[in-house]
Amino acid sequence: MSFVTRFAPSPTGPLHLGHAYSAWIAHDMARTHGGRFLLRFEDTDLERSKPEYIAQIIEDLTWLGVTWDEDPTFQSQSLDVYNQSLESLISRDLTYPCRCSRKEIAAALSAPQEGVPHHLYPQICKHRSMSDRQNGDAIRLHMDRACKALGDFNLNFHEMGDINCGIYSIDKNTLMRDVGDIVIGRKDIQTAAYFMASAVDDIRQGITHVVRGVDLFEFTQVQVLLLHLLGHRAPLYHHHKLIRDDAGKRLAKRDDARAISKYRADGYSPSDIKMLVGLV
Ligand code: GLU
Repeated sequence: MSFVTRFAPSPTGPLHLGHAYSAWIAHDMARTHGGRFLLRFEDTDLERSKPEYIAQIIEDLTWLGVTWDEDPTFQSQSLDVYNQSLESLISRDLTYPCRCSRKEIAAALSAPQEGVPHHLYPQICKHRSMSDRQNGDAIRLHMDRACKALGDFNLNFHEMGDINCGIYSIDKNTLMRDVGDIVIGRKDIQTAAYFMASAVDDIRQGITHVVRGVDLFEFTQVQVLLLHLLGHRAPLYHHHKLIRDDAGKRLAKRDDARAISKYRADGYSPSDIKMLVGLV
């Protein structure tokens, strides 16, 4: 079986220890299996993505000894591709337009409706139809209709990671209860949400194994659903553990103190970083 994987950073900040760990795991798996390793910049957030972060990420990965087998790709150059997938779900009546602001959603959530779990979108615009779509509306997945469109199909994916190794079933009740009517088309720049772009690209690039942190496990379930609705077979997934700070908190981009470039400037070597993330 061929093995193609990728590292897909959003260039909205510097790489930290958690990214180094993720990139190494994916890269080393590809090399062990005689497969291919791709680098994809998930830069659909046009405001927060910065060319200087792209340059820094390339420099850091190179310093860490990570090599990729094709020129890096940039999602900002393929927005029309993701929008086609979005349009295909729209044309099948699986979506509705939403004009709610965060403030309106927060207000509605503080006065919960019967039957709608308190952490989900409170369904204010659910009655609207796409023919009533206006400029600046977000597009939400109508989860009830999406689940119905699956029919009796048993949605599942192969998990090869540290957690839940085996076939992982996605229960429709869980999707309705825990995920709800998520935004799949953004209102600000009128393009598909990033997890949709990422799922579509995994198919387009022939990714066989998606290697990512366990913090994205919920996204994986949504992505598998979207891929299935779009008529694609999901790749295999490997969710790995997260690198945490001393207080046990997941590292985030804003944790500049853990930026690879800082360690580098402080005289650490790539092997020191490997040791820090527990890879030796
Ligand atoms: N772009 C995401 C991030 O930087 C990763 C997405 C993925 O692995 O699919 O967190």
